[in-house]
Amino acid sequence: MVTGFTQKESAFAVTQDGFYGEFGGAFIPEMLYANVEEIRRKYMEIMGDTQFQTEFRDLLKHYVGRPSPLYRADNLSKLLGFTVYLKREDLNHTGAHKINNTIGQILLARRLGKKRIIAETGAGQHGVATATVCALAGLECVVYMGAVDIERQAPNVARMKMLGAKVIPAESGSKTLKDATNEAIRDWINHAENTHYIIGSAIGPHPYPDMVPRFQSVISEEIQWQLQEQTGRDYPDYVIACVGGGSNAAGAFYHYLDDQRVKLVLAEAAGKGIDSGHSAATSILGSKGIIHGCMTLLMQNEDGQIMEPYSLSAGLDYPGIGPLHAHLIRTGRAEVHPATDDEAMDAVIQLARTEGIIPALETAHALAVLRLNAGPDAVAVLCLSGRGDKDLNTYLTYIEQHKIEL
Ligand SMILES: *Cc1c(COP(=O)(O)O)cnc(C)c1O
Repeated sequence: MVTGFTQKESAFAVTQDGFYGEFGGAFIPEMLYANVEEIRRKYMEIMGDTQFQTEFRDLLKHYVGRPSPLYRADNLSKLLGFTVYLKREDLNHTGAHKINNTIGQILLARRLGKKRIIAETGAGQHGVATATVCALAGLECVVYMGAVDIERQAPNVARMKMLGAKVIPAESGSKTLKDATNEAIRDWINHAENTHYIIGSAIGPHPYPDMVPRFQSVISEEIQWQLQEQTGRDYPDYVIACVGGGSNAAGAFYHYLDDQRVKLVLAEAAGKGIDSGHSAATSILGSKGIIHGCMTLLMQNEDGQIMEPYSLSAGLDYPGIGPLHAHLIRTGRAEVHPATDDEAMDAVIQLARTEGIIPALETAHALAVLRLNAGPDAVAVLCLSGRGDKDLNTYLTYIEQHKIEL
C-alpha cells in the first residue's frame, strides 16, 4: 500500500492551510494565486488515484531502478563501532534522489493538462532530473540557472541541453540560485495557463513542502521492509540525512516521523565554520522569515535581506530550510549537526576508501556527522542521497590545494 500518498494521522502532518507549527503557508504574489491554488485543490486527489500510483510505481521500478539497495556497510560499521546501513539513492537513474520527485511531478503536470515545464536549479542536479522527465514525457522544458552557476556547473548544463531543455541564465543579483528562483517565478506568472513549475526540494509555497516529501517517502517505505528483511526489525535507532531544502531527509524520515524510538538526525553545511561568515548553517544562524513562498528559518540580515550562503557543496548552498524541518528542529523531534567543508571532504575520502563508494559532496555532510554517541548494538540508516561523479573536479581541486596524499 502506498502509505506516503494517503493522509494519515501524524503529529507532523501539514494543516489545511499548509502549516507545520509556525512554519509553512503560501506567501505568494497575487498573480500566482490561481496556479498554486489549482495544485493545492487537486494534488491529493490526483496522487491518490490508483492509476496515478500504478504509473508512478512502474516508472520508479523500471525507469529509475527502484527499490534502491539498503546496504550494510560492514567496513564503515567496524570503524564507527555500531551498524550502519546506507540507503543507496546514488544508484538511481541520474544519480540522486531528486528523480523520485520529478517523476511524480511530471505525472501530476500531465494530469493538470500542462504542456510546458519550468524549474530552477543551483548545482544543476534538479535541472538534470527535470530535463530527464520532460524528455520522457515529451514536454517542453525551461530551466533557470544563475549565470555564475552555469559557469561552475558546466557538465550539468551540457546534460540538460543534451536532454533537450532550454537553460536560461539569471543575470540579476548574485547570479545564483535565489536569482534563478526569481526568474522562474516571473516566468510562471507570465505563462500561468500552460506551465507547471517543478520545485526540487521540500520548500516553496504550500502544497509543495507536503507534496515533495510524499513523492520522496518511497525512501523510508523501502527502508522499513528492507530492514525487516535484513534485521527482523522494521525501524533503526537513527536515520541520518543531509539537508539543503530537505527533500532527501524528508523522504528518509517520513514513515518514522511519529515513531519516537527512531532518532532523526540532520546534517547541515557549516562551510568554513559556523562563525566564519561563510556557511549555510540555516537552522543555527537563521531566523524566522519568508523565502521562496513559505515562512521558515532563513539566513537574513537585520533588514530582512537574504544573506548569501556558502558551502563547498552547491546542493547545500541554500539560505533556507523546508518548513517541515524547521518545525522538526524547533520542536526537538530532529537534531541538527553542522559539518564543515573540511569534515565533509574527510568523509568523502573515508567512504571511498572503506566501502568503494564515492558519495556526492552533499551526502558527505551526513557521513561527517555519523560519529554518533551510539552503543555497539545501535543500528543507523544513512540516506546516501547521491553519487560523487558530478563533484570529481571539486574533489581533485581540494585534494591538490590541501596537499592531501592519495
Ligand atoms: C540536491 C541534493 C541534496 C540537497 O537537497 P535536499 O532537498 O535537501 O535533499 C542532497 N544531496 C544530493 C545528492 C543532491 O543532489
